[in-house]
Amino acid sequence: MFSKRLDRIQPSATLAMTAKAAELRVQGVDVLNFSVGEPDFNTPPNIIHAAKNAMDQGLTKYTPGSGITELKAAICRKLKRDNNLNYTTDNIIVSSGGKHALYNACQVLFERGHEVIIFSPYWVSFPDFISVTGAKPIFVNTVSDKQYEPDFNDLLSKINPNTKGIIINSPSNPTGGVWSDAAIKQTLEIALKNDLWIFSDECYEQLVYDMDFKSIATFTSKKDKILTFQSCSKTYSMTGWRIGYTAGDSTIIKAMSKLQGQSTSCPNSIAQYAAVEALIGKQKIVSEMVEIFKNRRELIIKGLNAIDNIVCNKPKGAFYAFPNISYFLNKTYNGTIIKSAHDLSMLLLKEKFIATVSGDSFGSPSNIRFSYATSEDIINKMLERLKAVLSLIK
Ligand code: PLP
Repeated sequence: MFSKRLDRIQPSATLAMTAKAAELRVQGVDVLNFSVGEPDFNTPPNIIHAAKNAMDQGLTKYTPGSGITELKAAICRKLKRDNNLNYTTDNIIVSSGGKHALYNACQVLFERGHEVIIFSPYWVSFPDFISVTGAKPIFVNTVSDKQYEPDFNDLLSKINPNTKGIIINSPSNPTGGVWSDAAIKQTLEIALKNDLWIFSDECYEQLVYDMDFKSIATFTSKKDKILTFQSCSKTYSMTGWRIGYTAGDSTIIKAMSKLQGQSTSCPNSIAQYAAVEALIGKQKIVSEMVEIFKNRRELIIKGLNAIDNIVCNKPKGAFYAFPNISYFLNKTYNGTIIKSAHDLSMLLLKEKFIATVSGDSFGSPSNIRFSYATSEDIINKMLERLKAVLSLIK
């Protein structure tokens, strides 16, 4: 009944778990939500004020398909200020979130017969973005105790004449891993040598705790095939406003604009004016938020590792903890065998109302993802409940 295209994609596991947690909450259950990948802060007041101003001024109409010039100029200023990247407005397209930007770019560049490299564990949407175009996602292993940097032997073995692209996501969802300069340089060298499109998904670029973030396009002068994706969602607590953007060669930006013009017409006008304020207004709120996330990271990583048989590497970025739970697989809880990370994640929800996302959906069946974009009180409560339930698994 439906097109084959639809069979090539899965529903988002993260959104599914978030919906389940919301359902339970409506029933009055005290759910501890560690599934949702969004900051718990409200959007800062200056950004909300800018949106209200835009509405009062009647800036509520269609905008140019690829975004308003003011926002493109603000993005260029931001890229220079924060990332040392030099782009002009011709190099920028604004989309309805980073997700939309990545989807568009895949639609424009990939098709049947192509292969695109992604690193496992991967963000749930990457394989689907690729599959829906008819191209094939190719999974490359990473090294868990080295911030999930690539296994370079595996990477080299998976490149062939059909390989057209590679998607890098550092800091990563779901692992929080941040690659070292050496790992980025080595990956870039391989990608450039094989003439691949290089996607750098930098939506967590501000959430880096132990080092300065370096945008991937700053590592080389050969930027023609590098696309940088960023977003207002996580940095400014603007997940619902849906503003993300791509910086890259003007030819590909033009192609993406052509597609976007025929699919969404334009990103939301009010959110675009708000995003101008977000990107070039006062930034103090961002460093305050980063400090809060850093403290939460200390709390959750220490707490998880203090629980018997849980092992959790310390991620250098984003707001995810990705503990290894393999010890509990094939053991029993109340006579029921836990066969997979999914089973364990569902057990945590059912028995202790802890919402997580199982690693299966990220290509990592030995892990569970905890999003620590929540208060220290809730993190402490979760750790207590988790310890209690895991101690009953035999
Ligand atoms: N990329 C990664 C790795 C993400 O985790 C997300 C959101 O969870 C996005 C991109 C897209 O975010 P948005 O569409 O809200 O900009």
